[in-house]
Amino acid sequence: MSAAPLLEDGPGLDDLLAGRLPDERGRFGPFGGRYVPETLVPALDRLEAGVKRYLHDEGFRGCLAAELRDWVGRETPLTPAPGLGRAWGAEVWLKREDLAHTGAHKINNALGQAMLAKALGAKRIVAETGAGQHGVASAAACARVGLPCIVYMGAIDCERQSPNVDRMRRLGAEVVPVTSGDQTLRAAIDEALRDWVSDPEGTYYLLGSAVGPHPYPYLVREFHRVIGDEARKQILERAGALPDMVAACVGGGSNAIGLFHGFLGDPDVAILGFEAGGHGAELGDNSATINFGRPGVLHGSYSLLLHDEHGQVQETHSVSAGLDYPGVGPEHAFLHTVGRVRYEWISDTDALAALDECCSLEGILPALETAHAFAGARRWAAEHPGGRILIGLSGRGDKDMPTLAKFPPGVREGDAE
Ligand SMILES: *Cc1c(COP(=O)(O)O)cnc(C)c1O
Repeated sequence: MSAAPLLEDGPGLDDLLAGRLPDERGRFGPFGGRYVPETLVPALDRLEAGVKRYLHDEGFRGCLAAELRDWVGRETPLTPAPGLGRAWGAEVWLKREDLAHTGAHKINNALGQAMLAKALGAKRIVAETGAGQHGVASAAACARVGLPCIVYMGAIDCERQSPNVDRMRRLGAEVVPVTSGDQTLRAAIDEALRDWVSDPEGTYYLLGSAVGPHPYPYLVREFHRVIGDEARKQILERAGALPDMVAACVGGGSNAIGLFHGFLGDPDVAILGFEAGGHGAELGDNSATINFGRPGVLHGSYSLLLHDEHGQVQETHSVSAGLDYPGVGPEHAFLHTVGRVRYEWISDTDALAALDECCSLEGILPALETAHAFAGARRWAAEHPGGRILIGLSGRGDKDMPTLAKFPPGVREGDAE
């Protein structure tokens, strides 16, 4: 387990539920805050003022709700999954973010922030992307609100994810390959921050997960909260009761935090987050930050982190590009430390098997990221016969076809070259 600091006299779950967290310094207990160079502080202050002004403003909320309905396609359905239910001896429900525009939950945040940028008078938007999903969502949202979009993407990722580069350019975005640092997501975030600092008034930085300096983890969570709010209402209508367990995959943690917020205040609902266990428990073999990480600072926020004893951030591995990140959002570190959410890890092999099972029993191809939540839910079901399970189906797997080509149905990881 991680050596998270104990919250002896610190805030607890009650403070979170009552809206007292993040506190005025942007902290969830010891986690979060702003660990940034002086040059970034004015830009973050401006953003925070904008968030206070617009996020709960009635006019802004109304416009956002209309766009979520008309352009994103919300609300997304809650789908019963009787095939998986029979196979697992459980009652299974799926919250279908894969049916949102551009194929995943990421559009909720991208659209919300693009609309906020417009309201704040920004002239251009910068974003980072790893696998390209957030870049595609940002490019689409910027086209919709009518702002130019510049996406920083590691040169290695551009190579690996060339169809998404084409999609972004087709949607009108400028994609800038980043050749510094590790040439992947970490370097892309650094480059996007650098761009933002050079013009904090005219430029808006559209961050893609519930990570980064305050107010991003809070802002991103608020835009994804719609997932949990809808799911709670839908399952009460359809099943007549709350779920016994709620499951989501956790990379930076944005789809999970949005879903979890619908149920954090229901003590009888077990909440589980599933991280990418990759090849196993060794440092470097996985991206399971809460399971194997230790406290540290990455991208402006104090949270749990995969780094060695010298503080060197580690290379990570996951078969799913969207979970392949050495950090995790500070609110998840908090929920782990206060014990409200249990975080477990799932191997590449188990995720692939779960993906195939969902395809064959439900006729739904989930993203490889999402498959981690299915594998975790299956394991929980084996220990809780007859349980009612709600799974956050964060995105569709069409984007994963090049990766999946290496793993034909029935052939498991150890068999592929
Ligand atoms: C990006 C992505 C994730 C991981 O990001 P979070 O911020 O942890 O939600 C999960 N599922 C899908 C489909 C994604 O595209």
